[in-house]
Amino acid sequence: MQNYTYLVNREHILKAEDIPEDLVVCEFPFCAEESEEKRKLRKAAADAAGRLLEYGKSFGYTLYGVSGYRSYERQKEIYHQRLQETPAEVVNQYVAKPGTSEHQTGLALDVSSPEVDYELEEIFAETPEGKWLAVYAPMFGFILRYPKGKENITGYAYEPWHIRYVGKSLSLYLSLTGMTLEEYHQI
Ligand SMILES: [Zn+2]
Repeated sequence: MQNYTYLVNREHILKAEDIPEDLVVCEFPFCAEESEEKRKLRKAAADAAGRLLEYGKSFGYTLYGVSGYRSYERQKEIYHQRLQETPAEVVNQYVAKPGTSEHQTGLALDVSSPEVDYELEEIFAETPEGKWLAVYAPMFGFILRYPKGKENITGYAYEPWHIRYVGKSLSLYLSLTGMTLEEYHQI
């Protein structure tokens, strides 16, 4: 788990003991208290996200972190809570099983804005903030991990709010080619 480019999805699964060693508390605007696990990211991702959001401010855009790191244990809780209320076929479409959430890497961040009440909804893509994020995230080492039209490759619905740190050379390469991380790992 030490590099920034590895793949985590429904087939590439992390173990409970895969815990990043360099998690830090994010200092940029965040919809979570400093004590909350989801306020954390790996150091390089936290620094880059801070620079990205700061740059957004210079365009007049207010963006907030909503959810960063999520441990295997926390994902397990969420998954099992949902199973108590909803049939498994439905839950499996929307909630990652423990070990399959990219948030466990500490490199994924959900971003939103006051304009959409900090919700993680597809409508975010239509806002000026959402459009700005899609264009500028790759300049800071992030990709929009679950793009529209690639649902059958990523295995996830379009999520315009979910960015993943992969480092600047790969983020630029992927944004230029329009490839997903899955496609990159197949080369
Ligand atoms: Zn996410």
